[in-house]
Amino acid sequence: MPDQCGVAPTHTIRIEREKDMALRDLLDQAREIEGYLTEIRHRIHRNPELGFQETKTTALIREEISRLGLEIQPLELDTGVVAVLRGKGAGPETVTGLRADMDALPITERTGLPYASRNQGVMHACGHDGHVALLLGAARLLSGLSDRFSGMVKFLFQPAEELLTGARAMIDAGCLRDPVPERIIAAHGWPNIEAGKVGVLGGPAMASADKFLVRLKGRGGHGAYPHRAMDPVLAAAHTVTAMQGIISRETDALEQAVVSVCTMEAGRAFNVIPGEALLGGTVRCMREGLQKDIRGRLERVVKGTAAAFGCEGSLEWTELVPVLVNDPELTRTVEETAREMLGKCWVRTGSKNSPGPAWVRKISPYTLGKSLAGSCFVWGWQCRAKTGSLFITINSISQTALSRWGRP
Ligand SMILES: [Zn+2]
Repeated sequence: MPDQCGVAPTHTIRIEREKDMALRDLLDQAREIEGYLTEIRHRIHRNPELGFQETKTTALIREEISRLGLEIQPLELDTGVVAVLRGKGAGPETVTGLRADMDALPITERTGLPYASRNQGVMHACGHDGHVALLLGAARLLSGLSDRFSGMVKFLFQPAEELLTGARAMIDAGCLRDPVPERIIAAHGWPNIEAGKVGVLGGPAMASADKFLVRLKGRGGHGAYPHRAMDPVLAAAHTVTAMQGIISRETDALEQAVVSVCTMEAGRAFNVIPGEALLGGTVRCMREGLQKDIRGRLERVVKGTAAAFGCEGSLEWTELVPVLVNDPELTRTVEETAREMLGKCWVRTGSKNSPGPAWVRKISPYTLGKSLAGSCFVWGWQCRAKTGSLFITINSISQTALSRWGRP
């Protein structure tokens, strides 16, 4: 589908700069493995697995990585894979990480596709099957070009992205140790962007995600005699309303944050006032530090509102992922590379998203004692027609790795 530049997606891209042989080679080689990528994606799509249960997917990845002769590193987790490719070229000994997620969602697939899910109630509806295929494709391309770059490429197949706990677990399990990467690039398919386009954004790019549970304790009683009870349901209703003031009245209008109550639980009988009500929800923010502020405000609102109705309110808070902050310089490299390869019309900048996966620059200082630059870009899949979007991702990663991080 040509755009205003008259350039079709990658399968028809013409590389005009004859001198850039590495780029041409990569594009050609990426086209050659299209069948492999499709076959891998379909295999994973047929057998989707939920977070931290990705045993078959892990086995498949290990098998494919072993075939390439890459070194699989120990990881203190049941699922997930870390592998290292050593460059044989001369140049700086930098370590670059490439990350993909691998888990599926608890959704029943009704697409009728020949490679539809065979696991009832589980589906690769977020495209992580494609992410794994892409990273295996990048490993395959780069392993064939290892004499053309120096340093190392670390391939990180992360479990449980959907649970928002997989990145932390993988880091705690040692995925960033020995060798310690200086930079990591991640990618995710994105349905709001036209297929074939790459989306990049430096700085805060995806929101933090925390979850909360509000517990309101009152005194149960008969529905006909509310004056003898302390109704936690009424307190819960007012608490939900009062919470909405946290963003609209207490947060700077130029900040970006969301407080959502998504579950309410109280009582089972139509004529019995229960003794307790529960509210579950999530808070999303685009700035580090704001999470803590909102947590404090939420606690005050919960306790104060509950007390106003004679109940006792408490807040349980679980930190999931911090704000995803894309390193500006690394993101610029991804953007420039994508522009060089695809043409400027196929690179989109400037849109923030929520919620975020979890490769974040701020994790590294206390984990590793050195700084780690991260960047997560997205590629569009807003099209049913077959496109060359897979090539974009693979080649963005591969070319970036080759041209910026140690190609002699
Ligand atoms: Zn996802």
